[in-house]
Amino acid sequence: MVSQAKEDIAALLDCEPIEVIFTASGTEADNLALRGLYRSGTVLASPIEHPAVAEVLKTLPTRYLPVVDGAVVPDYQGESLITCMLANNETGALQPVDKLASYGVPLHVDAVQAVGHIPVSFRGLGATTLAFSAHKFGGPRVGVLLARRSPALTPLLLGGGQQRGIRPGTIDVAGAVATAAALKEACAEMATEQVRLAELRDRLLGRLRELGAVVHTPAASLPGHAHVSIPGALGDSLIMLLDMHGIAASTGSACSSGVNRASETLLAMGVPTDVARSALRFTLGYTTTEADVDHLIGVLPEVIAQAQAAGM
Ligand code: PLP
Repeated sequence: MVSQAKEDIAALLDCEPIEVIFTASGTEADNLALRGLYRSGTVLASPIEHPAVAEVLKTLPTRYLPVVDGAVVPDYQGESLITCMLANNETGALQPVDKLASYGVPLHVDAVQAVGHIPVSFRGLGATTLAFSAHKFGGPRVGVLLARRSPALTPLLLGGGQQRGIRPGTIDVAGAVATAAALKEACAEMATEQVRLAELRDRLLGRLRELGAVVHTPAASLPGHAHVSIPGALGDSLIMLLDMHGIAASTGSACSSGVNRASETLLAMGVPTDVARSALRFTLGYTTTEADVDHLIGVLPEVIAQAQAAGM
């Protein structure tokens, strides 16, 4: 059943079954890739990575690329390893990963936000390793690392020889099977879901613009992300007021909700600190209906007025 799951995943993501490595989370997959690929020299990285990558980079000599309109601007200066996400978790902005692959050095791609939402080809991207996480497309809390046979990854864990010795330990069979099943469904529904979500999201962004929002999500983005700032209102006030209407939003990355500080991603994009502290992120997914978006659009004027009255 594990072999079948690896075959199914490989067929959907254009890789070989042997390249599919199950992990406990996307975070583990990112750590395994970066720590496993790094040998010496400097890492070239985007400054808008998720903490699962960003915190590892703090332990390695790293040079960060500039960001324009939400996407990194590729510029290679002889680094030994490159890491860049396929789509940003806050803004949804797609990143020029194919250009980074063309430099011919090992490339790790964090595709946690992209897999199951937009077409992804491991071969086509030219990546050495690619991380994703099944809970982002309706699957279980299982991470996956796609890893080419060479260069060989140094494992984080030592043990039996499972999964080419890269990630030893007995595999969670139910998790592996459920990951493949969820990915199959997500890919089957992807084309229609992309159009449906983009329409809903664009309607929401249009209304937010009319209400004075600064939009951080660029045109080249995942279909369900809407990241904005509401000048004069604190992000935390906005999400608390929305919560009273039954609407779950975030000020930035979901993983750091509850922490009151400006998003590192927005700051790296050159957004001023006060505007970054007014950030409000909506993520639409397969459970989001037109009625949900209508409800949100209906309460926005009142919520924004109340949050602005409370001030910064
Ligand atoms: N990378 C990105 C871009 C993410 O959005 C996330 C989770 O939100 C992760 C990595 C971490 O994945 P996991 O929650 O499975 O550890």
